[in-house]
Amino acid sequence: MRVYKKQFDLLKKTEALIDSTFPGFGVNKKQEAVRLVYEIAKKDSVSPESVIENTGALDFENLKHLLFKKRYPYSYMHKDLSNPYLPKIVLDKNAAIEIKRTAFYPKKIFIESPAWRSSLADRFRKHFPKAVYSEIKSLKDYLKRNRNFSVRDYNDRRDTAFITYENHDFFKTCPCTKKAVGCGYNIFNLSFGCIFECTYCYLQEYTNSAGIIFPSNLDRFFNMFGSYKRPGMRIGTGEFSDSLMLDNITEYSGAIVDFFKKHKNVLFEFKTKSKNIRNILKARHRGNIVISWSLNPQEIIDENEFLTVSLVERLRSAVKCVKAGYKTAFHFDPVIYFNNWREEYKKVIALLFESVKPKDIAWISIGTLRFNPKVKQVIESRFPGNKLLDGELLPGFDNKLRYPRAIRCDIYRYMLGILSGHSKKIPTYLCMEDISMWKEMDLRPVAMFR
Ligand code: SF4
Repeated sequence: MRVYKKQFDLLKKTEALIDSTFPGFGVNKKQEAVRLVYEIAKKDSVSPESVIENTGALDFENLKHLLFKKRYPYSYMHKDLSNPYLPKIVLDKNAAIEIKRTAFYPKKIFIESPAWRSSLADRFRKHFPKAVYSEIKSLKDYLKRNRNFSVRDYNDRRDTAFITYENHDFFKTCPCTKKAVGCGYNIFNLSFGCIFECTYCYLQEYTNSAGIIFPSNLDRFFNMFGSYKRPGMRIGTGEFSDSLMLDNITEYSGAIVDFFKKHKNVLFEFKTKSKNIRNILKARHRGNIVISWSLNPQEIIDENEFLTVSLVERLRSAVKCVKAGYKTAFHFDPVIYFNNWREEYKKVIALLFESVKPKDIAWISIGTLRFNPKVKQVIESRFPGNKLLDGELLPGFDNKLRYPRAIRCDIYRYMLGILSGHSKKIPTYLCMEDISMWKEMDLRPVAMFR
């Protein structure tokens, strides 16, 4: 809690300073000034006093101008500072998370009645004999009775699992984001929630159930697939969860690989930040299964992708999958902009191609950091010492907070250049970017997958 205390003290000091220096400001103006001064002091590791020293008697507009220049120097210089997102900062001790690298072991497991005797429920009973098991009519009914869901509950979600019997929402097309070019990804909607703790994860704002959800009736998904299937489509489980995080328990992968043997004209992708590939290696596949990892420099993994495995372990797992005849894929997503980003991402790409040959890579995606504005406040409260939010994240073309366009262009151009130095044949796409960005990068926004 030391990190929380440090940020909390900084915030209190900033609030007192703005109150005493600008007593004439109204509530909203004070709130914006506090946020800007706090963010500058945090990012530059300086005192709030030094942020506003020598400003003299300023009116609000001039103060804001000056603070914008310090908080968003790049965007300010490039006149790309349309409408910064400046909500009130709330730091809550109960919401700050202490990361403990402990094995996943839920204390409470709720099982929907139709799933009570399922083989998935039996596997959970075997793996977690000390958990308390309760039968519930349905998850929907449980959630109705347990409405007040807080960030604190989200922090505790690893203590609770729900085993469900899915009746609908088996598949969806990926909603992508407003005004962006989609990549044709389809969601095989198996599991909701994740045991990992990435600072940037959108699930921390999107989730409303205080536990991780595991459907037990995979056979029903398979029965429904015929009516959803389109030849050439790409579908996967990595949108609302990590595809392999608990595959040793769920054993989803074996059944999925087996099922997709019958659908050779469909590509199935398991997307993960784990090394949980034992079942994958045992499964017999027919070439249409892709195992993918998201990649980041180890420094970024250490600061933002808590409880996941290291870069080297991800790549070692990829090598094992290639040996087992699988295609792999890699997602540079989210790319995070930091001081040494060029050197560090170049090293990651070099390590990737030292490990895996281009012919064994089905595709690569690149997407720079972005998230819904509301996620910012959740990150702030859960990870008060984060460096992620020190970046220049401003509302972009889809209103998500993103780096300025010129920085994103620089990142994409650089990474695409390095990737094409290794191979020009790997299909590569941008994740959640608009058509003008694709054009600028000379990428043809044709649907890569149907
Ligand atoms: S691995 Fe993916 S789903 Fe899990 S916390 Fe990280 S970003 Fe979220």
